[in-house]
Amino acid sequence: TWSFTTSSIQNPSQAYTVDMVLIKLNPTVDATDAVASSKHSAVLHRHLDTTFLNMTRSEGNFLILENDRKIFDASGGAAVGCLGWGNQRVAQAVTNQVLAAPYCATIFYTTKVQEELCRDLVQSTNGAMARAYIVNSGSEAMEAAVKLARQYFLEIDQPQRTRFISRKQSYHGITLGALSVGGHEVRRAKFEPLLIQNVSRVSPCNAFRGKAPGESDEEYAERLAKELDEEFQRVGPENVCAFVAEPIVGAGYFKAVRDVCDKYGALLILDEVMCGMGRSGTLHAWEQEGIVPDIQTVGKALGGGYQPVAGLLAGHRVVNALEKGSSVFVHGHTYQGHPAACAAALEVQRIVREENLLSNVRAMGDLLSSRLREILASHPNVGDIRGRGLFWGIEFVADKENMAPFPSEDHVCMEICQLGLTDKYGINVYPGGGSVDGVTGDHIIISPAFNISREDVEWIAATVGRLVSDYFAPKA
Ligand code: PLP
Repeated sequence: TWSFTTSSIQNPSQAYTVDMVLIKLNPTVDATDAVASSKHSAVLHRHLDTTFLNMTRSEGNFLILENDRKIFDASGGAAVGCLGWGNQRVAQAVTNQVLAAPYCATIFYTTKVQEELCRDLVQSTNGAMARAYIVNSGSEAMEAAVKLARQYFLEIDQPQRTRFISRKQSYHGITLGALSVGGHEVRRAKFEPLLIQNVSRVSPCNAFRGKAPGESDEEYAERLAKELDEEFQRVGPENVCAFVAEPIVGAGYFKAVRDVCDKYGALLILDEVMCGMGRSGTLHAWEQEGIVPDIQTVGKALGGGYQPVAGLLAGHRVVNALEKGSSVFVHGHTYQGHPAACAAALEVQRIVREENLLSNVRAMGDLLSSRLREILASHPNVGDIRGRGLFWGIEFVADKENMAPFPSEDHVCMEICQLGLTDKYGINVYPGGGSVDGVTGDHIIISPAFNISREDVEWIAATVGRLVSDYFAPKA
């Protein structure tokens, strides 16, 4: 991924790498744009041979460049921003906390904000989860989840459980443990020899690409659950620690998956780093699946981008085992439970509740989905429009009949995002990856702030419609 707030922009004469793939892009930098060349920078940028838009401010839904050009942030960066930018209450809460106690060494101390945030998170699950653990990124939360799952089985004297099962084409973070349980081939490739080896992967739940003709949702979910069951049996069910997945998919799937995990005594870890904390229309996406995970991670919308903050929620089964066992989670970071991060998250979550933003997510999500479908469903290069709440993806196809994706070297989703950043559109949408495996298609993500207005949703849908039509229009 690349950061939305400091979006990398291609200099026409250069090529640059995205996800370690060399790409050539449209000459999208406006002559007037304030850009900084990465070549002479002291920053170890993701791309060392490109230019970046200089973002100086962000206000409401807008990212503002050094030359005062405004770009509408229709994705909240990487689905992070949930209140928009410049929220005074959150800024004040962070400032107050920094002045009161900016840091807390959690080996000896705790803080009121950490205690309150964790209580808040646990209560938000209606008692389904028992304790929370605050870190600074989604990857750290996933690392902690993997290690906590392993430690759980040590506590209950099942040390042979060391295997994880996850899904192909999944992403659970960039650090070695998180990368190990993920299935993102491009990001894994160079580091493969360093990754945890005892992870295997089953098919993702993607109705658009995976469902057989005439197959019902229930039949599809059952087929995938059977594949998971067979994978448990292949690796020995007594060896499996956990199944790891992101919970935004088709009807019935997670009930079936939960059953398989229960049948074999394995844990279910749900990665809600991107879809969680309200983006799906409920605070936790699993609420819509009628299941409860054993361990859950949250991230982006937890602090809405105001501080680097993410978390892990552990269920009673796991916490009880730890309490009755060693009582020590053998894990920890210098900055875990960071007071400023906790203060930001606590205030963001209070605002989400007080302003009843989840009902806006659901209403504006319905509007966004129907407008996107009205405008784009019949487009010959739009294969699928899918999502929930304010988390929408548009998948592109080279051929609508056979759903063939574009070749990865065309970098279609990246080019569409780049084109969106030009003055003609002034919109920030997020590149959801291309067809690196020849299976998944290029897609873009639209994930605006939870307090988005009706007018802004209409504008986003119309602008994305224009952007996609123009991009695919025959070039003169
Ligand atoms: N899990 C999911 C589902 C994600 O989308 C991401 C980031 O995009 C991560 C984990 C990793 O989070 P972070 O980038 O904060 O480390």
